[in-house]
Amino acid sequence: MILMGPPGAGKGTQAKLLETHFQVRHISSGDLLRMAVKKKTPLGIQAKRYMDRGELVPDEVVLGTIEECVRQDGSGKGFILDGFPRTVPQADALCALLHGMGAQVDDVTSIQVPREDLVKRLSGRRTCRECGTMYHVIFDPPRNAGICNKCNGELYQRDDDQEDTIIARLEVYDRQTTPVLNQYRERGLLREVEGVGSPEQVLERILDQVHKHG
Ligand code: AMP
Repeated sequence: MILMGPPGAGKGTQAKLLETHFQVRHISSGDLLRMAVKKKTPLGIQAKRYMDRGELVPDEVVLGTIEECVRQDGSGKGFILDGFPRTVPQADALCALLHGMGAQVDDVTSIQVPREDLVKRLSGRRTCRECGTMYHVIFDPPRNAGICNKCNGELYQRDDDQEDTIIARLEVYDRQTTPVLNQYRERGLLREVEGVGSPEQVLERILDQVHKHG
């Protein structure tokens, strides 16, 4: 299953809920890249420049990371992809990778949220440095300011959640990721779900769509 939607649509939140619901692994390209940045690996150093500007990391860099992760998954149960594919070449590479494994994309869900809500969500977002749990300074604050409820890790504002970079990321989504959505729509795989409301309400809408379409 692929979760799509602009930055701030709630893909990460829904991917975690779906992971628990279906008991299948969630693979986030953004999390994998942030981990590489944190560890200062050669890939991370290369990726950081792009991420800080709100641009997409070059396809070949992301593809290598995703491919390694997908191939390592021996569960045979499938997985939920979040934040990948984001370009047409990435979607084509995913198709070829899955084909080679005797698998396919079953479902593509696009989470839709009005643009002004996306900016509010992203600019107030705070992320735990340790476990990646996300909060919002107004809509979902932690119990103690600046500290993660789950692991007591420090909460920080991602560099790419600053307002200028948010605008750049939304533009990149329109320009580079919308053609991927159109491709999945033409293939009859795309389900569009409204991403406004509580995480549980959005999850229910996603599950409704999945069950409706088998
Ligand atoms: P995300 O956490 O999904 O919002 O991703 C954060 C940043 O990581 C993006 O703004 C990109 O710079 C980079 N990134 C994540 N996934 C991809 C991808 N599939 N292709 C290129 N860059 C990506």
